[in-house]
Amino acid sequence: MGTKGNYKAELVGAFGYPIAENPTGIMQEAAFQALGINWRYLLIEVQPRYLKDAIQGVRAFQMRGINLTIPHKVEVLKYLDQVSEDARLIGAVNTVRRVEDQLIGENTDGKGFIRSLQEDARISPQGKNALIIGAGGAARAIAVELALAGAKHVIILNRSKERGEPLAALINEKTSAQAEFIHWQSTFSIPSSIDILINATSIGLYPNVNEKPNIDFNSIRASMLVCDVIPNPPQTAFLDEAKKRKATTLDGLGMLVYQGAIALKMWTGLEAPIAVMRQALEKAFGY
Ligand code: NDP
Repeated sequence: MGTKGNYKAELVGAFGYPIAENPTGIMQEAAFQALGINWRYLLIEVQPRYLKDAIQGVRAFQMRGINLTIPHKVEVLKYLDQVSEDARLIGAVNTVRRVEDQLIGENTDGKGFIRSLQEDARISPQGKNALIIGAGGAARAIAVELALAGAKHVIILNRSKERGEPLAALINEKTSAQAEFIHWQSTFSIPSSIDILINATSIGLYPNVNEKPNIDFNSIRASMLVCDVIPNPPQTAFLDEAKKRKATTLDGLGMLVYQGAIALKMWTGLEAPIAVMRQALEKAFGY
C-alpha cells in the first residue's frame, strides 16, 4: 500500500456581478502553480440578493478566503466578523480571509498601490504631497493608505462634490495627513508642489483608450511621479502625456498585481511570485 494522497484543493476566489471578465484568477492561478500549491481561484457570479448566502458559503465550503468586486465591496461589511482599520476607513472590503469560523475583512487595493510605489517606482509616501484625481473606490483606498503611510498633504480633485468632500474630510479627521478637496470643473493646472499625481478615475479605461483627464498637461513637471490606476491598457494616454514632460510614470498593472500578491500572502502565508503574476496578466491582456 502506498501513502495516501491529499487530493483536496484549498479554495479561494472572487464574488462579483458581473464576474466573467475579472482577470484576478489568471494571476492567482499562475502564482499557485509557480508556488507548487494545490489551491484554486474560482470566479463566482453572485447576485446582490444572494451575497449573504454566498458569504455563509465561504464558511460552509471552508474556503480560505474570497475577493469581493463590483457591486459587493461595501455591502459585504455587514456580514463580516471583523474588519481591519484601513478597510473600515476606506469603507470597502476587497479581500476576506477566514480564520477558523471568523471572517475578517481587508482592503488590499490601496496597499497594492503603495507597494507598487515603493517597489516599482522606489518612492516612499512619507512626507510627500499627493494629488489624486477621483474620489471613487480606488481613490478612497489610495488616499487612505497614502495618508496612513505618512503622506503630508493630499489633494482630492473630483468632478462631484458629493464624493470628493467627504473623502478629504475623512483624511483630515482620521489620519495625520492634511487633505483638501478641489471641485474639478474645468482644465486643472497641477500645483508645482505636487510630488505624486494619480489618476484614480476610470477615464482612459478600455475601450475609451484615447480619453484623458482634463488637466493642463504642461503643468506636469519632470520631478513628479505620475501614476494611473487603469490596468488595461497599462500605458494610458494620460501616462503618455506625463512621459512627454519627462516625468517618471507608474502604471495600474503594478497596483493590480500587488493587491493580488498581498491577498495571496494573507491567505497562504507565502510570498507571492510577483513577476509570474504580472506576466500572466500581461498575457491575458494581450501585451
Ligand atoms: P468608481 O465608479 O467608484 O469611481 C469613479 C471615479 O471616476 C469617480 O471619482 C468619478 O467622479 C470619476 N469619473 C469617472 N468618469 C469621469 C469623467 N468622465 N469625468 C470626470 N470624472 C470621472 O470607480 P473605481 O474607483 O472603483 O474605479 C476607478 C478606476 O480604478 C477603474 O478604471 C478601475 O479599473 C481602476 N481600478 C484599478 C485597480 C488596480 O488594481 N489597478 C483597483 C481598483 C480599481 P464622480 O465622483 O464625479 O462620479
